[in-house]
Amino acid sequence: MISYDQSCDLCNEFFEDGEKENRCIARFRDAFILFSALGCFREGYSVYAFLQHHRSFASKEVAQLEEIERELDLIRVKIQQAYSSRVIFAEHGLGLSDNGASCCDHAHIYIIPVNDPKQVFMRFYNHRSDCQLMNKIADLTQYKDKPYIYLSCIPG
Ligand SMILES: [Zn+2]
Ligand SMILES: [Zn+2]
Repeated sequence: MISYDQSCDLCNEFFEDGEKENRCIARFRDAFILFSALGCFREGYSVYAFLQHHRSFASKEVAQLEEIERELDLIRVKIQQAYSSRVIFAEHGLGLSDNGASCCDHAHIYIIPVNDPKQVFMRFYNHRSDCQLMNKIADLTQYKDKPYIYLSCIPG
């Protein structure tokens, strides 16, 4: 069964035939899409999302997150090569009742070329007292149904 939310902008963009601008860069396994971000402030800034409606990556199973991590690593390498820039990933994951942090409640990961990933990490880390370091994206499962910010500044 396809999980589709008619009130979701991304679902509507992915599933409706219309005259909308096609922002798709690539599709993966008929389950994920990579597309260019709206109003991107840097070349290569893109978004990786489920085609179907899910509220967060943390809500998925470990095995699926491991596949996602392999795809994200590949995307990171490709975008780094294409734009001669290092790349970070970020997700504002939703809990059960959050409304999407002024964005939307369809799980998506931002892929952002930056000059200095370590500097981004240190700025984030120094402003958050509740940071938890993780070794792999599958560790997100502990945040299932809870709100979180996922930030990946180095490969792996
Ligand atoms: Zn959606
Ligand atoms: Zn967002």
